Amino acid sequence: MPLDLNTEIKFVKGVGPRRAKSFETLGVSRLGDLLEYFPRSWNFLPEPVGIDQVYENQEVTVIGFIESCDFLRFRRPPVFEIRITDEKSSMRAIWFNGGYLVNQLHVGMRVALSGKISKYKHQLQLNNPKFRVLGEDDQEQIATFGGAVYPATADLSSNQIKKVIHNVCADLCVSKKEIFTKEFRDQRKLLVRQDAYRLIHLASDDEELEKAKRTLKYEELFLMQLGLAIRRSKTRSFSPSAIMKFNDTLDSHIRRRFPFMLTQDQDNAIAEIVADMREAHPMNRLLQGDVGSGKTVVAVYAALLAVANKTQVAIMAPTEILAEQHYLSITKYLEGSRVNCMLLKGGLTGKKRKEALEKIASSEIDIVIGTVALIQDDVVYNNLGLIVIDEQHKFGVDQRAKLRKGKLPHCLVMTATPIPRTLTMTAFGDLDVSIIKGSPPGRGKVTTRLVQPDDREKAFEFIRARLKAKKQAYFVYPRITNEDANSQKKAAVNEYKMLKDEVFPEFNVGLLHGQMPQAEKQAIMESFRSGDLDILVSTVVIEVGVDVPNATIMVIEAANHFGLAQLHQLRGRIGRGMSNSYCFLFGDTDNEVATERLKMMQRSNDGFAIAEFDLGLRGPGELFSTRQHGLPDLKIADIIKDYDLLNMARKDAFEMIKQDPNLSFPEHLNLRESLISKLGDKLGLTDIG
Ligand code: ADP
Ligand code: MG
Repeated sequence: MPLDLNTEIKFVKGVGPRRAKSFETLGVSRLGDLLEYFPRSWNFLPEPVGIDQVYENQEVTVIGFIESCDFLRFRRPPVFEIRITDEKSSMRAIWFNGGYLVNQLHVGMRVALSGKISKYKHQLQLNNPKFRVLGEDDQEQIATFGGAVYPATADLSSNQIKKVIHNVCADLCVSKKEIFTKEFRDQRKLLVRQDAYRLIHLASDDEELEKAKRTLKYEELFLMQLGLAIRRSKTRSFSPSAIMKFNDTLDSHIRRRFPFMLTQDQDNAIAEIVADMREAHPMNRLLQGDVGSGKTVVAVYAALLAVANKTQVAIMAPTEILAEQHYLSITKYLEGSRVNCMLLKGGLTGKKRKEALEKIASSEIDIVIGTVALIQDDVVYNNLGLIVIDEQHKFGVDQRAKLRKGKLPHCLVMTATPIPRTLTMTAFGDLDVSIIKGSPPGRGKVTTRLVQPDDREKAFEFIRARLKAKKQAYFVYPRITNEDANSQKKAAVNEYKMLKDEVFPEFNVGLLHGQMPQAEKQAIMESFRSGDLDILVSTVVIEVGVDVPNATIMVIEAANHFGLAQLHQLRGRIGRGMSNSYCFLFGDTDNEVATERLKMMQRSNDGFAIAEFDLGLRGPGELFSTRQHGLPDLKIADIIKDYDLLNMARKDAFEMIKQDPNLSFPEHLNLRESLISKLGDKLGLTDIG
């Protein structure tokens, strides 16, 4: 029976139903899967030669029967020695520290040894060679001695997998249809597809392997980007949305709302947003910018454009506190205007909620601000023109879809967590991106110091002097309480007492944490904002939204327990006023990586640089995993390490979809087929064309 990519693996010679089951646990049920079961690593060993042909310093593989084996020296460290013989000659191999081999190598076994030939007392020998025990007359095992190493399981070894792949690979690769034209491949230095799939398994040296890898990584990234490009182009072409009218009068009307000049970055972002909203398909834009960089202002601009076009705006925040913050700052901008703004509280029930919903349904309200409460089924808008989602990454893609509920308002997603470029190209790859890099003018500098335990006193004296000068300070802890009295771990409640009674008795100290009743939290925040409190001891509840320009000091205890993105967010609470600010980080570990991370905070105030650094250190993690975002897992490419290829693949894919949105050009037929078989159901692309 001829084999093709669809053949079930159980029909392959040497694979029975039982082994087929083992293959299935690896996600391999058909030969096509097998071809894409890529090696975990490779080690290239030299071709086998006869023992009589070896010479000093040669890298060789020799194969022979073990004639003798024993300890050359038994004392520690033991030296283990074997002698092997083939038809023509024999030689010695030794392993220093090879005591373990006594259980693995025995007289009469057939073995392959690989290493560099050296001379000892006029005799050629191998020192510490790599070895493999071979069957009696096992040609295939010889062939598979070096080369690919596959991820294996308890009942399916790398070698068993390799054997099966070697049996079918060369024949099978022929059925991999070419997806790129010769010109396209040549420009990008890609291999013919068949060759890439063959060599990834059968390469005989690093050069072949590297070419194969590069081609397959590119293919994988390209198909992913193609999927994203199509998804984006589909939303654009098939879903009409309100076209927003815009002119200079409106522009200056809106700008009059802000008591300051917008920055260049804000203007750029606004220009991109306005251009999007004037189109007949919905905006799908991610607005990135550091804490305090002025995103809210941009969102308000977009909201007023929508309102001026007689549509409603929903602004969604991840928490009630943040929603309220937004409400406060937005209503401040809107003071004296005719725009009606409402905070839809999550706790609202009964008659009050009903009244609120009626106002939304009748368009009496122009801008609604709230949390997920905004997308509950009973919230009906009369004419929703724009959705603003703050802190995107805390909402999933699904929620984004739900908010749109069939209708297609424009959508602006804001995030203060700088998302590294790599991820905006993948996990968020179907969004357009605007970036606000700098912060508004007139801000003081923020200096960050990682404080060693010995310098704690000095840091506290510095803080005391600032407090005396009427500045305010945050003290942030990773936990609320510490149940274990003996533990050294710092927690807000415990340290609050200490700071208040012992360290800073001359100042007013307040406590804020997530388990306090809402009203109490609000009261505390208010007295910090008004300056009644000098010090606010808290947990991460202050992470977002709090804006107290006079607070210019932040102490973060046990800082290594926070993520870098989180530390950066926290630090964004200071540096909001004109005077310089200071952030003191205290760690509670000697761990080198942890310290290195904290030093990054000391070095940089650039959220993007910090995010890239963190990503490089920890990998993308669950939050940003491609699977979570409805994209398939990558088998061979790595979005961080293969950034350049990703970048190239993205440009290529988006350009191709621009030229040929449905992949209907004859030269794209195979590509389209590959794409559908690979991503079709996951991205809902089976209906393209
Ligand atoms: P973000 O939403 O990115 O955290 P905001 O829009 O809340 O930032 O702005 C942070 C602070 O900076 C606010 O107090 C805001 O009034 C102020 N601000 C924003 N843009 C400007 C600007 N162009 N010039 C001066 N101050 C600004
Ligand atoms: Mg904000």
